[in-house]
Amino acid sequence: MREFGYQRADDVSGAVALLAADPDARFLGGGTNLVDLMKTGVERPARLVDVRELPLDAVEETSDGGLRIGATVTNSDLAAHPEVRRRYPALTQAVLAGASGQLRNMATVGGNLLQRTRCGYFTDLSKPCNKRVPGSGCSAITGEHHNHAVLGASDHCVAVHPSDMGVALAAFDAVVGFETPDGPGELPLADFYLPVGDTPHRETALPAGALITGVTLPPAPVAARSRYRKVRERASYAFAIGSVAAALDVEDGVVREARLAFGAVASRPWRARAAEAVLTGAPADGDTFAAAADAELAAARPLPDNGYKVTLMRNLAVAVLTELAEETAR
Ligand SMILES: Cc1cc2nc3c(=O)[nH]c(=O)nc-3n(C[C@H](O)[C@H](O)[C@H](O)COP(=O)(O)OP(=O)(O)OC[C@H]3O[C@@H](n4cnc5c(N)ncnc54)[C@H](O)[C@@H]3O)c2cc1C
Ligand code: SF4
Repeated sequence: MREFGYQRADDVSGAVALLAADPDARFLGGGTNLVDLMKTGVERPARLVDVRELPLDAVEETSDGGLRIGATVTNSDLAAHPEVRRRYPALTQAVLAGASGQLRNMATVGGNLLQRTRCGYFTDLSKPCNKRVPGSGCSAITGEHHNHAVLGASDHCVAVHPSDMGVALAAFDAVVGFETPDGPGELPLADFYLPVGDTPHRETALPAGALITGVTLPPAPVAARSRYRKVRERASYAFAIGSVAAALDVEDGVVREARLAFGAVASRPWRARAAEAVLTGAPADGDTFAAAADAELAAARPLPDNGYKVTLMRNLAVAVLTELAEETAR
């Protein structure tokens, strides 16, 4: 690893000022992704600004009945928080489905949202990768892509976003708060990740040098009846090959409200709005759930080796919705 400077930030404005003063600096959360990328030479920051001691480590009620989660809350603390477990159970399940206990103790909410793709070519400096070196090409399209995107990808990059937490946050309309030298700002998660297009190296709409300060979850009564299910290649810990966050409100056999998001199928957590439109107001039965999944997956453009994901996601979505309907019918 190359030499780099290290500084611990004590307050938010100081952290933002430190990064503004040094364009080669990076914020350090738990370091569970950034330090790995520094070891392989993918990331080469001149200085790390450690944000873990900033006063952003609380989960608090908002005045309208939602929750605000600080950016340095660890994954473990987020998953264990009683109000998260009670009001947004799919978020707890998603976080606990990610990584290992040790990693979750270190990893932070801000770092989780900004973790980089696990595409093997991204970390292999000997191979072309448009995300790592713009304009160099995409090795995955003609190479190993069995775990790559089937939705929203482009000819320039087919990598998936690896976050489990982000999928539940997408289903619940989370809003990301940040701080810049010009003041605070916020971005709905739906606008936070940029479409791939021909600029896969530009992953988010965050202004350069912005510090994520937290994530706000609006009140969503339907979220109390939610679930996250992840399919992975081994039981101990592994990134998803497909996942679903779902919430369902059923009354008299009819879906009153539905939330659905897919993970590991696109460059960002994928809110399944076409499926939600089919679900809302329809009978809560297997035919509706299958039609909803099909409506969402009609846009899928699989590559030769990842077409299985379309079937996997259809089955996963139908299974999770069926379970929720059985549990929540009243
Ligand atoms: C073996 C292994 C298995 C894993 N499995 C999973 C899994 O199954 N599911 C899953 O979702 N994740 C998984 N992860 C990823 C893990 O969740 C991420 O590494 C972690 O969430 C990143 O958080 P961090 O705080 O350590 O980020 P860091 O590594 O510190 O930072 C990541 C990026 O975020 C930036 N950053 C950090 N905090 C802020 C902030 N407040 N504002 C602005 N920028 C910031 C950093 O500059 C860096 O670019 C796994 C990781 C490993 C190593
Ligand atoms: S899929 Fe994206 S990250 Fe992977 S090699 Fe292609 S451009 Fe790079």
